[in-house]
Amino acid sequence: MGFFDKIKKGLSKTRDSIMGGVDNVLKSFVKVDEELFEELEDALIMADLGVRSSEEIIERLRERVKEGRIKDAEEVRAELRTIITEMLSACDNRLKLETKPSVILVVGVNGVGKTTSIAKLAAKFKSEGKKVLLGAADTFRAAAIDQLQIWADRVGVELVKHGEGADPAAVVFDTVRAGKSRGADVIICDTAGRLHNKKNLMNELSKISRVIDRELPDADRETLLVIDATTGQNGVQQARDFGESCELTGIILTKLDGTAKGGIVVAITNELAVPVKFVGVGEQMDDLQDFAPEEFAAALFDGGESDE
Ligand code: GDP
Ligand code: MG
Repeated sequence: MGFFDKIKKGLSKTRDSIMGGVDNVLKSFVKVDEELFEELEDALIMADLGVRSSEEIIERLRERVKEGRIKDAEEVRAELRTIITEMLSACDNRLKLETKPSVILVVGVNGVGKTTSIAKLAAKFKSEGKKVLLGAADTFRAAAIDQLQIWADRVGVELVKHGEGADPAAVVFDTVRAGKSRGADVIICDTAGRLHNKKNLMNELSKISRVIDRELPDADRETLLVIDATTGQNGVQQARDFGESCELTGIILTKLDGTAKGGIVVAITNELAVPVKFVGVGEQMDDLQDFAPEEFAAALFDGGESDE
């Protein structure tokens, strides 16, 4: 299956949710008036784009209607697509990993898909000819370390690990040291999504962050928050929480394949100004895709037929 078919298929439920609502409103469309705007806004909110972002989208639409360019339903639809693409394109969606080594810290609550996404990222970098080193800094459960080891073996990359209950910052320290001495291009560290309480977890992440600052002060670093798309608006709150203890540089939005709530990609990008950098559309190694705003919008609005 090609890239586009996969994202199209992965987004089918989200597309039904967003475009089903929008097209329903446009079907009964008579003229562009306040009632239409309100119904469209409701349809976007229902499709998990978030209240604030939905309001903003409709506000922009209203302005463009005022300019007199939009007269029929087809033009309203096209303009919505343009506005959503603009919103998704507002931040830079690419990773910045130019130093050798560079570091990716992967954070997020339990079960969102951190470990799986790390495996997918490792496979991607390896296929680009990069030397990858993983650090098993989720020491909360032995099973978490074993799971990452299994993935590391499958992908064919090295892993630094300690035992269950070890200090995660110490694991990161060893991983970074090993990465430097073994000439790794990319160091990727897993972290726990669950500690005894939230404050504990956040303190742990700050500590890990300080270790990287000290050991690799000049290295490029990405701190990627993994969000499970099926959680909808709760994911936006998670991004706020994590954003308080670490400087997030991007989002990996997983499980888009199983949910109608993919509209949160708009809420996250727009309300938090943190770009979505990857989307997960399945459990296999190649089910992680670079997030491309225009293709995403095309997959939503046309079921995948891009204009370009
Ligand atoms: P962690 O606790 O954050 O490390 O989460 P895991 O990586 O262990 O993943 C939890 C579950 O989510 C596993 O069963 C994964 O296979 C599944 N998962 C992760 N990413 C995706 C995705 O993009 N799509 C689907 N359908 N499942 C996923
Ligand atoms: Mg995990």
